[in-house]
Amino acid sequence: MVTPQTASPRNAPPAVGLRVTPVSAFADNYIWLIHAPNLPKWVVAVDPGDAKPVLKTLRDQQLQLGGIFITHHHADHVGGVLELLNHYDVPVFGPATETIPGHPQRLADGHKVTLIELGLEFDVLDIPGHTAGHIAYLGHGSLFCGDTLFSAGCGRLFEGTAEQMTASLARLSTPPEHTQVYCTHEYTISNLCFALTVEPDNQATRHYFQHAQALRSQGQPTLPSSLKTELQINPFMRLNQPSIKDAAAKHAEKALDSAVDVFTVLRTWKDHFTPSPAQMSAGQWITD
Ligand code: ZN
Ligand code: FE
Repeated sequence: MVTPQTASPRNAPPAVGLRVTPVSAFADNYIWLIHAPNLPKWVVAVDPGDAKPVLKTLRDQQLQLGGIFITHHHADHVGGVLELLNHYDVPVFGPATETIPGHPQRLADGHKVTLIELGLEFDVLDIPGHTAGHIAYLGHGSLFCGDTLFSAGCGRLFEGTAEQMTASLARLSTPPEHTQVYCTHEYTISNLCFALTVEPDNQATRHYFQHAQALRSQGQPTLPSSLKTELQINPFMRLNQPSIKDAAAKHAEKALDSAVDVFTVLRTWKDHFTPSPAQMSAGQWITD
């Protein structure tokens, strides 16, 4: 979360928090463990791309696996499912229209995932764009959005269209501002370099960059973020802001009529953007 903001009912923290802890996997993935409110020591794993670090965490912390949530079919999100099922006979949930290992219960927009014994209930949202069948899990003031929304960025368009991704990001902006955003990759610093290239005068982004740098220098995740933060700093969640529209139009050297046009320019711009080491390590963004 970002620097303190003025208190108001809209940005008050959720009444019932969910305990969620990260397991690091591969270079920059987080496999989130959702701790059951009703059953201490029971967790649900979200997008376990690798079973090994999950099994180790479960063993070390004497946790029991109670279920597996999958957001989309990419290997870094599903690669550990079968191995986990070798150790734990648990339900797997995943998108209805994608091929997911472990015979998942197939979910689509409007469905609810209820794990009564664990005290967990999530709404399912269809959020196509990164993949064609990508879903998110929303509940308990928490959003598990896979590779669709990243802190200060969004997923690449591998299967979906710009129209779909624009609609999906708009959809993800609608839950209450205090909603905690659990993305599956630690891309925040690199994303912020792009965000500040697009919007160099955004003070919230500058502050958040310092905050994120401090966390990373201590080896801490920058996640979860919050929707409130993303609406302030994430260019892909700010497609209707004049500063973003102007920057995208200037970059494209043409007028942009719609949010989809702005998204398309930003996404293509970012696909070709590689932050320099100097940008990544800081200083130039924090001059005032
Ligand atoms: Zn992915
Ligand atoms: Fe991924």
